[in-house]
Amino acid sequence: MKTLKFIIPVIFLAMGTIFYACEKEEAELQQTEEISQEVLEKLESLHFNTSDVSFGTVELPDGSEFNAYIIEGDIAMTAEQLEAMKILDIREKQYRTYNLVTNNQTIDVIGYTGSGNALSSKMQTALQWAINNYNRLDLGLYFNLTFGTDYQSKDIVVYQVSGPAGGMAGFPSGGAPYKWVQIFSGIDSYDTDVVEHVITHEIGHCVGLRHTDWATRASCGGSGEDANPYGAVHIPGTPTGYDASSLMKACFNGSEDGEFGYYDEVALEYLY
Ligand SMILES: [Zn+2]
Repeated sequence: MKTLKFIIPVIFLAMGTIFYACEKEEAELQQTEEISQEVLEKLESLHFNTSDVSFGTVELPDGSEFNAYIIEGDIAMTAEQLEAMKILDIREKQYRTYNLVTNNQTIDVIGYTGSGNALSSKMQTALQWAINNYNRLDLGLYFNLTFGTDYQSKDIVVYQVSGPAGGMAGFPSGGAPYKWVQIFSGIDSYDTDVVEHVITHEIGHCVGLRHTDWATRASCGGSGEDANPYGAVHIPGTPTGYDASSLMKACFNGSEDGEFGYYDEVALEYLY
């Protein structure tokens, strides 16, 4: 049975589709056991895709953990955060959360190098490239990157945890970006460009970007049919249909170039 775990990523590779977060089977098991109808209805009303919701723990660099719902594969949200999320009652489509980061600020990002959760050298390079992606744009947010272990005062901490290729983050709250970006060890076997893609994507969540194909999960092999056209806030000037070049697709593949799609830039420049 042990080999099964290695076969699964190979199958995904062959399919060209990689889910960000892991423990799919475990997640589905937990979904029936722990995700209440009330939670699913709240998520539905917030226009998240409820076909992939699990309840799990997020491990921090100091070894502590917190419990969170894992939504659309790589978005962690605590029960309190979910409770606090505003239900949208406007008929708009799209792709950012209601929660944004306060504009015109410097965001201090640290690439964690402490034992146990240190980024590999490839991940460190990819993180630098990801930060460059943001700083190349003319945003009101400036990202200041350092590497080290002194993360308490930082706004975003990027660290490695063991797991299949992918990552996990969350959404801003109180005007601050989501702090914890987990990068799963399995991504280290991919090109630096793919790692850059994953890190840029997770930081996108930290500043409030949602999955561009949240309704259909087309990038994950979904049907392409809109689950629910109302809800999440549409960013003007961006397409409502599937945009294969978006860095904020729900799933990625092994040939991602790590660069923003045109409309990702439109979205970020509109928001910030
Ligand atoms: Zn994501």
